[in-house]
Amino acid sequence: MERIARADPAAVAKAGWKIRASLGRTSDASRRLKQSESHPHCSARHSLVLSKVYRGMAWHPKGAGIGRDRNRLSVQVGASVLGGAPPRHWGNWKICSEAAMSLRPVTLNANAMSTNLRTKTWRPETRELLVARLGGSDQEADLTEPPNCGGVGRLRHFRRATSQGWPSNPIPIDPAERFLGRHLGEVAVAQVFQNLACNWRCWYCYVPFNLLSGDVSRGEFCTASELVRRYLEESDPPPIIDISGGQPDLVPEWTLDTLRAVNAAGIQNDTFVWSDDNLSNDYMWRYLTKEEVRWMADQPNHSRVGCFKGFDEKSFVFNTRAHRSFFSEQFELFRRLCQNGFDLYGYITLTSPSDSNIEAGVVDTLDRLQDVHQHAPLRVVPLEIISFGTVKDRLNRKPDLVAPANAALIHQEIAIAVWNIEMERRFTHAERAVNICDVEIAAG
Ligand code: SF4
Repeated sequence: MERIARADPAAVAKAGWKIRASLGRTSDASRRLKQSESHPHCSARHSLVLSKVYRGMAWHPKGAGIGRDRNRLSVQVGASVLGGAPPRHWGNWKICSEAAMSLRPVTLNANAMSTNLRTKTWRPETRELLVARLGGSDQEADLTEPPNCGGVGRLRHFRRATSQGWPSNPIPIDPAERFLGRHLGEVAVAQVFQNLACNWRCWYCYVPFNLLSGDVSRGEFCTASELVRRYLEESDPPPIIDISGGQPDLVPEWTLDTLRAVNAAGIQNDTFVWSDDNLSNDYMWRYLTKEEVRWMADQPNHSRVGCFKGFDEKSFVFNTRAHRSFFSEQFELFRRLCQNGFDLYGYITLTSPSDSNIEAGVVDTLDRLQDVHQHAPLRVVPLEIISFGTVKDRLNRKPDLVAPANAALIHQEIAIAVWNIEMERRFTHAERAVNICDVEIAAG
């Protein structure tokens, strides 16, 4: 996989030093960052930002006069987000100006979309769900293996390894290993199905938006039993089923029915069911009975992951195009899932269009997670946003998004540095070393 961007040099320099300046003013974390970092190719100590950005977003030649003139750093330019040389107009790219980084307009009425998409993609009488047909779709080019299960499934390889500076990713590998009672290694293969609906529109989503829209012509209505049947007919079905999307919890019956189908097929001791949730709605409690929710939470072969989008309202709105109030709502839904006893994990994306208040936002996000449970951050894995062809195609069609997207990719490097420092400050080495499955976040 190729990164989305290597940044515009002026932007990196400007962003880097401005962020450094803001970090340098305040907290212990900032001071520790400043003390601990130096550029790997430069003798001049110059703190956090450029050494972090260096790791792939942009870099400067060995020996460049990084200390001579902060505003004229020599930074090599890599491929732009769209490939090739940066567009000419990037010469005046005001990466740090709030005007240029103005938020993407809020165009989604996420609640109305949710209602509409649920109606379009779920047939309650027959309990059929509209799943995305991946064969022949715009997503197919990004797949490393051809679609399976009659064109509505795909295999996904979950990897522990991440880029330098990003925490390793133990989910869903560790929970699956724990349930299956066997070692899966550094890469675990899962059978993925995607519902053809999502109520958000993340700019970095690897699913083409036309596979999120409930368009019947791009999918197939199937029951969970039918999907499990096709899964079992594959020549070597992996031990993990990943219920994905889209936003699977627009139809919470899907996960329920999948767990039931796995039981009915007699494979519940060998099949781990992992489900994704973008933490956007309360449909599980609205459309399932208390007994059904409790039954799902009690299934030993089921875990779920909620994905937080951004670290403050600004980054959330930019990432999803949903209303800012949904930012706080994510934490309440996560809390509710915890209280219901699910084996629950989290992802978080740290992309933001703005370089202001990154540290405050990350700190606040960790505070919010710890308000759910003191140990909740230890169950949350930051995800680095990287490129897929789908994202490049999307940005090609929306050139106004290119500069903010590139800025966001730079800013996620700053945010993860702050995240790492904050995690070290909040948790001991022993606590951070605990297997993610053993982190206790049961409702207190
Ligand atoms: S919530 Fe997930 S599926 Fe929906 S647009 Fe965002 S990344 Fe894509």
